Amino acid sequence: MTPRPHVDSWLDAFPLEPCLRTHVAAVCAALPPHVLSDFLTDPGFTFYDYEPSSAPAHIPVRAPSRKGPSRSVVLKRTLRRRPDNFIRWVIAHELAHAHLRNAGRHAGEDPEHAADSLAADWGFPKP
Ligand SMILES: [Zn+2]
Repeated sequence: MTPRPHVDSWLDAFPLEPCLRTHVAAVCAALPPHVLSDFLTDPGFTFYDYEPSSAPAHIPVRAPSRKGPSRSVVLKRTLRRRPDNFIRWVIAHELAHAHLRNAGRHAGEDPEHAADSLAADWGFPKP
């Protein structure tokens, strides 16, 4: 699957490390259209990565928008050393949390279970 052009220009807004960006683009390309547009149309959504050796002094957070509180997907750069399927599962899992706003899909569902299950639905099962 090749990244859709509008996804690519959307990702340009985030200062992602190039290797992680490639994986983020691949995961975004596999998202169902309504999930992708949930992120693309939310000015409060952001991707961010950091080097865990130096604790992040400041993680930029966008202002809340009419779509609700801001959402950030934060990735550790050490992820790059993991296998591709693990990296993409982590990205999909974090996007699932963002899409579900850290809740389950229904009342009482464990948010971690929901995120893993949604990530698997998108083609990224837990390795
Ligand atoms: Zn989780």
